[in-house]
Amino acid sequence: MDILLPSQASSGPSHNNASASWQRSLQQAIRNPETLLEHLGLSATQLPIDIANTFSLKVPLEYVAKMRQSDPTDPLLRQVLPLDEENNRAAGFNTDPVGDLNARQSPALLQKYQHRMLVLVTGACALHCRYCFRRCYPYGETGHAEMQQQLMQIRTQKQIHEVILSGGDPLLLSDSHLTAWIQALSAIKHVQRLRIHTRLPVVLASRITDALLSSLQESRLQVFMVIHSNHANELDETSANALQQLRQADCTLLNQTVLLKGVNDQAETQIALHTRLGELQVLPYYLHLLDRVQGAAHFEVAESQALSLMKAMREALPGYLVPRLVREEAGKAYKTPVY
Ligand SMILES: *Cc1c(COP(=O)(O)O)cnc(C)c1O
Ligand code: SF4
Repeated sequence: MDILLPSQASSGPSHNNASASWQRSLQQAIRNPETLLEHLGLSATQLPIDIANTFSLKVPLEYVAKMRQSDPTDPLLRQVLPLDEENNRAAGFNTDPVGDLNARQSPALLQKYQHRMLVLVTGACALHCRYCFRRCYPYGETGHAEMQQQLMQIRTQKQIHEVILSGGDPLLLSDSHLTAWIQALSAIKHVQRLRIHTRLPVVLASRITDALLSSLQESRLQVFMVIHSNHANELDETSANALQQLRQADCTLLNQTVLLKGVNDQAETQIALHTRLGELQVLPYYLHLLDRVQGAAHFEVAESQALSLMKAMREALPGYLVPRLVREEAGKAYKTPVY
């Protein structure tokens, strides 16, 4: 079966106001470090920024609004601002830290684990996270032909029970393109679960449009959405509303966090994040030790400190709000449990 994408799938003017608004927000995202600092009442002399970084700055104004003014140590700012430190080379840090390249069935289809297939449906994101483990990934074309090819491979592998839309950020696809994915996957009998890994409910809540919600709700697939929030300050009322709508559309909501020095490496920060997630009915999934990608060494937290954070969380939180501390190791059958 060949699922045709509507002609407006890639971009272009939309007649849907809600979708036009998130796409406009992305067009207006800040891409210049000095502009970002100006917005926050900071000067470039307070922070050693790297203007020439090839993994450029990108951050929507909606996310900037969640940052504190005049605070060079703000945990959200630190996630997006390119600093000179990224040019330091550190032993053990490389461009393919979790063995993605070896797990490829085709340029955008990764299989590492039984019964689960991961599809890199786009290389684009709403914001660029400085610690991104795929910051060096060679994303290829992600158009209609590639999608048909990927669907064909999923169709022929009957042991695949779960398809994970990843990227990049899969919610950067238009509603019509995502709906085409959801409908095509729903038509494959051996696929039972759809998982979407995304930062959009956290970064740009207006992305959760009515059209997306109906596609998710109408699907026969069980839908798991894993939001990637690293700090309670990211989870304001607009994000809370988007998450509530997703729950009402029958999505199971989980959160995955990366443990990051200077962002969320203090016990009270982790406890506040997981308390807030609980309030929003988002259950914690993984707390990831940093993937050792080139340029991110200054974010690494020692394993001994991670273990004491876990102990503090276990003491302060109900068991169901404590994430599993894991590390991803190339070639393993599952993510390695650390605590
Ligand atoms: C992390 C990952 C998954 C999902 O693993 P879970 O432990 O089920 O969350 C699946 N495929 C790939 C390629 C991954 O990197
Ligand atoms: S949203 Fe995910 S894929 Fe995109 S830059 Fe951030 S960590 Fe990387």
